[in-house]
Amino acid sequence: MSSATTVTLDNRFARDLAEMAVPWQAEEVVEPRLLALDADLAAGLGLDPGWLRGPAGVRLLIGADVPAGATPVAQAYAGHQFGGFSPRLGDGRALLLGELVDTAGQVRDLHLKGSGRTPFARGGDGLAAVGPMLREYVVSRAMHALGIPTTRSLAVVGTGRPVHRETPLPGAVLVRVAGSHLRVGSFQYAALTGDAGLLRRLADHAIARHHPAAASAPRPYLALFEAVVAAQAALVARWMLVGFVHGVMNTDNMTISGETIDYGPCAFMDAYHPATVYSSIDHGGRYAYGNQPLVAEWNLARLAEALLPLIDEDQERAVALAVDSLRGFRPRYEAAWTDGMRAKLGLPAGLADEVAADLVTDLLTLMETGAADHTSTYRALAAAARGDAGPADRLLPGPLGGSWLARWLAVGPDAAAMDRVNPVYIPRNHLVEEALAAATGGDLDPFERLVDVLDDPFTPRPGLERYAEPAPADFGAYRTFC
Ligand code: AMP
Ligand code: MG
Ligand code: MG
Repeated sequence: MSSATTVTLDNRFARDLAEMAVPWQAEEVVEPRLLALDADLAAGLGLDPGWLRGPAGVRLLIGADVPAGATPVAQAYAGHQFGGFSPRLGDGRALLLGELVDTAGQVRDLHLKGSGRTPFARGGDGLAAVGPMLREYVVSRAMHALGIPTTRSLAVVGTGRPVHRETPLPGAVLVRVAGSHLRVGSFQYAALTGDAGLLRRLADHAIARHHPAAASAPRPYLALFEAVVAAQAALVARWMLVGFVHGVMNTDNMTISGETIDYGPCAFMDAYHPATVYSSIDHGGRYAYGNQPLVAEWNLARLAEALLPLIDEDQERAVALAVDSLRGFRPRYEAAWTDGMRAKLGLPAGLADEVAADLVTDLLTLMETGAADHTSTYRALAAAARGDAGPADRLLPGPLGGSWLARWLAVGPDAAAMDRVNPVYIPRNHLVEEALAAATGGDLDPFERLVDVLDDPFTPRPGLERYAEPAPADFGAYRTFC
C-alpha cells in the first residue's frame, strides 16, 4: 500500500514517444471534493483508499501533486470522426499522469479527464461537468462488473468551479485507469508524420504493452495488427451480447488494448432493435447498435493503413497481407457472438449449429417485432426453463412467441448457466439519469446506491426490483450527448 511518499509513476510513453507527448500540467483546483472512489481498484493499484480520500491523496487525484518520476503529458492522436479524418485531435482536456504497475504486475495508465485546456483543446474549454464524469464512472464500473474489458474509473473529484454548457454546471475531474491510452488514432497520427522511426517505436511500445507474443512472430507488425483485430472482435461481440451502444466509435475512441474507452454518448439498449441510436449527434445512425461490428471492421482497416509501412517494404505485398489479416475479423466476431448467444440461451453443447442459429435468429426477430426489453428477456427465458413461463409469455406474446418458446424448451436449456451470463441489473438509462440529476444537485445517495447494485449484476436481490425494470413509458425517447 502506498502513501504520499511512495507513489511513483513511470513516464514511459513520454520517453518512448516524445513526438506524441506534450508535457503539461493540470489546471489548479481550488476546492476539490472527492465525489466517488473505487476502493477495490485503488487497492489493486497498490494505492491506499484511505490515503486517497485524504487531502494529499486528492491532490494526487487532481494532478496537483506530481509523483516522483512522472511527466504528465497531453497525448497527440488523429482520428476519423463519423468518417471524416482529423489529422490532429489529441487530449484536449485530458492528461496522462504516468504509468504504474498494479499488484498483479500489469502496467496501467493513470489519466485525468477534465483537467483543463491543453495545446490540443482547439475551441474547447478543457473542462468536464460532474454529470458526464460520474456517468463514465458508473457505466465503466458496470462494464467491468459484467466482465467486459474496459478502461476503469478510479475517482471523480468535484472542482467547485462552474463549467458552462447550455447552463452553468458543477465541474469535475475523472481519474481513469487503463491498460494504455493507445488508440487506432495514435497510429494514424504517427503514420501521418511520415516518420517511419516514430511509427515503429509506437508499434514496438504497443507490442510490449499489450501483445508481447507479436514480437517473436515472423512479421511482428502484422501480428500486432492481427492481435488488435482479435481483441476488438471479442470486445464488440461482448458489447452486442449485453446490448451496449458505444455511440461514438471514432477511430480515436478505439483502443489497441481491446478495452472499451470513451463513455460519452453510450447507453444500454432497452427494447431490442438493431437500429437503436441514442447519441444526439449520430444523425445517420452510423454508430447504431447493429452497425457496431461493421464500424469496428472499418476502423481496423484504418489501423491497417497506418501500419502498412511497417508490414512490408513492398507496399503492394503489405496491402495483400493486411487485407488477409483483416478478413479474420468477421469469423472471429461471428464465433465470439455465436458462442455468446448459445450461452445466453443456455443451449446444450451438443446442439447442432444450424438448430442453434435458427433459434437465435427467430428469437431476435420476435424481440425486434415486439420491442422486447433486451436484458429482461433472457432472464425471463431462464425462468421459463425453470417452469415459470409467465414473464416470457408477456415479453414474447402470441402464437409465434409460444411456438418459439416450445421449440427452445424442447432442446433442454440450462437455466443456471443462463443466469451466469445474463445480467439482471444494467445501468438503465432512466436510473443513470436519475442518479446524475441528484448528484448534480448535490445528493450522491442515488448514485452510490446504483453503483452498489451494478457491482453485482447477475444476482437478483429482494428489494431491488425497480433496478431491473425497463424505463417507465413517460421517460420517453432517450438522447445522449458527448
Ligand atoms: P471525444 O468525442 O470525446 O472522443 O473527443 C474528441 C476530441 O475533442 C478529443 O480530442 C477531445 O480531447 C476533445 N474534447 C472534447 N471535449 C473537450 C473540451 N471540453 N475541451 C477541450 N477538448 C475537448
Ligand atoms: Mg475520445
Ligand atoms: Mg468523449
